[in-house]
Amino acid sequence: MVGAERSRVTQMNPLRADVRLVTRLYAAIALLLIALFGVFQALAVADLAETAKGEVAYHLEQTGRLVESLMGDRRFDDALADSLGATHELRVTLIGADGAVLGDSDVEASRLSLVENHAGRPEVSEALDGRVGVAERMSSTVDRLFVYVAVPSRGRAIRFASSRAADHRAASKARWWMFLVLLVGLVIAYPIARWASSGIVRRLQRAEGALVDLAGGDLKARAQLTGVDRVASVGQAIDRLADALEERVEESDTRADNLRALFDGLEDAVAFVDADGTLQIRNPALERWVGQSVRIGDRLDELFKSPDIISAVNRAQVGETVTEELRFGNRIVLLSTRPHRGGAVLTLLDLTTLRSVEGVRRDFVANVSHELRTPLTSIMGFAEAIVGGELASETAHGFGERILANAARMRSLVDDLLDLSLIESGSWSPTLENVMPGAVALEVWNDLVGREVIALRIDDPDKLALEADDSAVRQILRNLLGNAIRYAPGGTRIVVGVRREGDSVRVDVSDEGPGISPEHLHRVFERFYRVDPARSREEGGTGLGLAIVKHLVGGHGGQVGIESEEGRGTTVWFTLPVAGRLIP
Ligand code: ADP
Repeated sequence: MVGAERSRVTQMNPLRADVRLVTRLYAAIALLLIALFGVFQALAVADLAETAKGEVAYHLEQTGRLVESLMGDRRFDDALADSLGATHELRVTLIGADGAVLGDSDVEASRLSLVENHAGRPEVSEALDGRVGVAERMSSTVDRLFVYVAVPSRGRAIRFASSRAADHRAASKARWWMFLVLLVGLVIAYPIARWASSGIVRRLQRAEGALVDLAGGDLKARAQLTGVDRVASVGQAIDRLADALEERVEESDTRADNLRALFDGLEDAVAFVDADGTLQIRNPALERWVGQSVRIGDRLDELFKSPDIISAVNRAQVGETVTEELRFGNRIVLLSTRPHRGGAVLTLLDLTTLRSVEGVRRDFVANVSHELRTPLTSIMGFAEAIVGGELASETAHGFGERILANAARMRSLVDDLLDLSLIESGSWSPTLENVMPGAVALEVWNDLVGREVIALRIDDPDKLALEADDSAVRQILRNLLGNAIRYAPGGTRIVVGVRREGDSVRVDVSDEGPGISPEHLHRVFERFYRVDPARSREEGGTGLGLAIVKHLVGGHGGQVGIESEEGRGTTVWFTLPVAGRLIP
């Protein structure tokens, strides 16, 4: 729309437009002058002629009356007419009572007989009837325009006539002057038209310039026309339009920026492909998905080799909406395509983590159920036997102890699960204090150990202190020493080594047990992972000990690790921050 406007505005030839405006203005003035001239001609000149005629008639009448009063009953003849005509410098006609012309100053006496009877002339007829008669017409006798005034004189008529030639000369002179004035008016009207139009043209040029700039994308352009005339109000309307346009564009820019930020921030790949399969819009995530830089104009089938994706896009291009879960490399992907403007909008959502979390959750529920089911089954079996009665009291007592042992195992499993879920939920954070791992290891050992056949050595020459949560350190050591005691055979030795490593303290718990084969080693920190599940259960293990250790150490920002050699023993170690000062 803006483009169309712009081309229309720029196609105009400003010079031609200006010339046309001046020409039109000039034509209007010229027409006005010519019309005024015409009207003036028609009215003023006609009025002038009428007035002149009235005056001539009045003068003739006065002269006629005077002459008539002086004449008395003198005989009318041509000589008298000639003398009166010469005296008054007028044409004088003396007419008898019958209308016969008895004398005429402009007609020789010899030709009088040829002059027709004048009784039919309107002014003569009036005068013969005793009234003053006035008429204007071409004289058939002398072939000129005359004003005739006939005055009655004792039944006869004396007629004075004055030629209108002088009036006509004056009128045509006046007409000539007026024509001259008209010509001068027409000549000076052109510069006046130019001058009058220049202000409008200049202001229109400003309005036009503002429009062209706006159409060219300069939203700051304004006509800035002041005043109250039509051109100014057009300019002000343009400025208001520009204000509104600028505001709208700013709003839509902000909206586009926000959308762009959202679009660019998406982890999902989003792209719009046109009907030809060419990429028109894409977000940065798409590049990460295809693993190469992607440009607008690239062909989608060159970016994605997956036939599933290409077919889904093709289906959307013909109006179908597609949602599918598929494998894309080593990822699980939710692919969706939907039709848009003849092309297709493609989104790829990575479900790998979600699906693996779902798998972990499923495995976890299965593991927990399995772990609880075994002791529960035992408890039910022993309990049923006791309820059935008829057991020797020693046997019943033994069954009761088995029930207790299974219940204790369930309890420790539930305790470990609760600990783990508390740590994993993120709501747990360590309460830091100075903790001496050597001393804690000894205390834990004393609580745990029931088999004196295993010896403990604390190798902590510097009596190092940690900056850590005391109960967490206690639980870590309880799990590690518990494992060592559980798996190490009698007569062997467990060593707890404490030494400084940079800003951390490393604690090693080593035993001389059977060790762990390398294929299991990297998995023992997983929940419920056991090298030998039956033995672990038998020994009262929950399969969660090392997972809890890993989370507790991780919660302090420390590291955890395991080293083992089959048949030689196992060392599980962890590092925690060293305390700010050494405790003596
Ligand atoms: P559990 O309660 O079964 O001991 P853990 O998470 O503490 O669970 O340990 C996971 C597995 O790692 C154990 O089942 C065991 O197979 C192995 N393991 C842990 N510590 C030792 C050790 N000191 N010696 C041999 N195997 C060990």
